[in-house]
Amino acid sequence: MLNRGTDGPESVDYPDHAHAVSEDVSSEQAELGILICGSANGVAMTANKHSNVRAAIAWTPEIAELARQHNNANILCIPARFVSEQTAIAMVDAFFSSQFEGGRHARRVSKIACMALTLLVGMPFAMRGQKENVGSYPQIHNTHLDTTQMHLHLSVLASDGFEGRETGQPGQKRAAMYLEAYYQNIGFEACNGGSFFQDVPLVDTQIFGGWVEVEGDTLALIDDFLLYPGLEVLQLESKPMWFLGYGIQEGKAWNNYKKFKKGGVAIVREGEPLNSEGKSFLTEDGSESSWAKSLNQKREVAADFGASAVVVALEDAEFDMRKSRMRRWILRKSTSLNAAVDGDGSDIPTFFVRASVVDAWLEGSKAGSLAEHLTQVSKGKASKPVLLKKPFSMAIDQRRFPYEAENVLAFLEGGDPDLKDEVLVITSHYDHVGIIEDEIYNGADDDGSGTVTVMELARQFQKLYQKGMKPRRSVLFMNVVGEEKGLLGSQHYVENPIFPLENTVANLNVDMIGRVDEAHAKDENYVYLIGSDKLSTALHELSEEANRTSVQLALDYTFNEPDDPNRYYYRSDHYNFAKNNIPVIFYFTGVHEDYHQPGDDVEKIRFTKMSKIGKLIFHTAWDIANRDERPAVDKVNDFPSDR
Ligand SMILES: [Zn+2]
Repeated sequence: MLNRGTDGPESVDYPDHAHAVSEDVSSEQAELGILICGSANGVAMTANKHSNVRAAIAWTPEIAELARQHNNANILCIPARFVSEQTAIAMVDAFFSSQFEGGRHARRVSKIACMALTLLVGMPFAMRGQKENVGSYPQIHNTHLDTTQMHLHLSVLASDGFEGRETGQPGQKRAAMYLEAYYQNIGFEACNGGSFFQDVPLVDTQIFGGWVEVEGDTLALIDDFLLYPGLEVLQLESKPMWFLGYGIQEGKAWNNYKKFKKGGVAIVREGEPLNSEGKSFLTEDGSESSWAKSLNQKREVAADFGASAVVVALEDAEFDMRKSRMRRWILRKSTSLNAAVDGDGSDIPTFFVRASVVDAWLEGSKAGSLAEHLTQVSKGKASKPVLLKKPFSMAIDQRRFPYEAENVLAFLEGGDPDLKDEVLVITSHYDHVGIIEDEIYNGADDDGSGTVTVMELARQFQKLYQKGMKPRRSVLFMNVVGEEKGLLGSQHYVENPIFPLENTVANLNVDMIGRVDEAHAKDENYVYLIGSDKLSTALHELSEEANRTSVQLALDYTFNEPDDPNRYYYRSDHYNFAKNNIPVIFYFTGVHEDYHQPGDDVEKIRFTKMSKIGKLIFHTAWDIANRDERPAVDKVNDFPSDR
């Protein structure tokens, strides 16, 4: 390395030094030259007067790389006034490590520092020494994600033509095809029986109406009764109705189900029995018991006693309030995996009616009315079940629409015969919420940002691979579908893995890294990491190390705390891996005013910081794929999977 400039901060007469460097390159004393100066125009013009010199001005590492690769530049001119020291170092790194096709490999370098940037002379080489324990290729350290590429792909995927990429809709299919063509073009081969896709069987369920009939009186859905959607039983005929008071069974102390007969419909009221001072009969100190608010607890008891349905009596005003609140939810289309079994609570059909309706049912029975029941309760004893001599029938028009959507997979086989069966999975979801009330939700950040980051990571890995720099373990780049419908694509993958889960060493998931949230409005150089330390100490440590030796972002662990109310840990695709005991890291830069809004557009994406986060992911991934031992699972997760 020749230094034709100054190492001090003083200004120098730049043409002399520019000539000196150009002379070195022109005479083949040096292969490459670096000129750092003001706007860099003067030194570039001076240099380009020399024969054999092709000087280019660049202001990002990507441009520096392109100048070398595409334009065969042999002198890089860096505008010192517009480029930070860190960026300048990255640019020099990028320029040195990339090559023009057919270019020579010898690196004799001449450089000049016209103004100020003294550290630059030594640092890239010092830094180069640090990272060589990970993988054996120094080029790895210089890999950076190309913002031009990411911008190009995001401009397509988040354009109106893709109609918000809703799972199962034409826009999502287009995006899947775009991704398939992309992976094919950059050199991947189909890994799932000749396909880049994994088909995800889904079903949309929707309720279009329904009725309940008691003794000739017909109630209409929404107007007269409400229900929990996702019904498994759509029809009941002439079932005996039982009035069960509060519908509580708490040991021997309080049992509303004594003598209840299986198959009956359980009519219950909300809340719990209280004395005249408003204290609960169910707890020793009179404080509120768990029955007061938990309808699920009542549903479970009803199911345990073999009830065929639960009907909850609501005060008339309360019913009307819930009616407006639940209407949309009851009638909306909901999506689930086609084979999925509902695991939450109980799936016993559950209806809500007005108290006045229940009073009419109680007329002439032993219970009398809801008000009479209350006076009985105030004595502190559980009321006996009352069999009403009025049969209950109902029918709900709920329809199912099965279809398929696609996870897109790009697989790179590892280069180490002993380790290539182990797989690192890097994910992002490419679906979004589609078109709502004629507005297209483009989802540039959610999760176009993660999608193009994974695409660019795949390209970088593939590029190195083709140069013979293979990671030891295999890497699966996967763009999953159905995230916005409830993490369904990733759930289907972990339930039907293409590569065995026991060989899956980690999952790095990227979801929304293109914007800046309120907490970081002043400095975009941050990323929220979620999950890194939950299962594996080694993963957390290597992740921090990767950051220290590359981009040095501020790693924010706010959302990694188990008591954080946002519970992001459960809210993106990594969770499906984590619940299978696979160590994960979720990369995220937080929500913003356009989150799930039509304004989540490509113009607002910050590509430079996104590529920095991508670089962190690259280094983390490279380390995981190449270290001797896979990240060991050695911790008890403080985010339990049976939340
Ligand atoms: Zn998302």
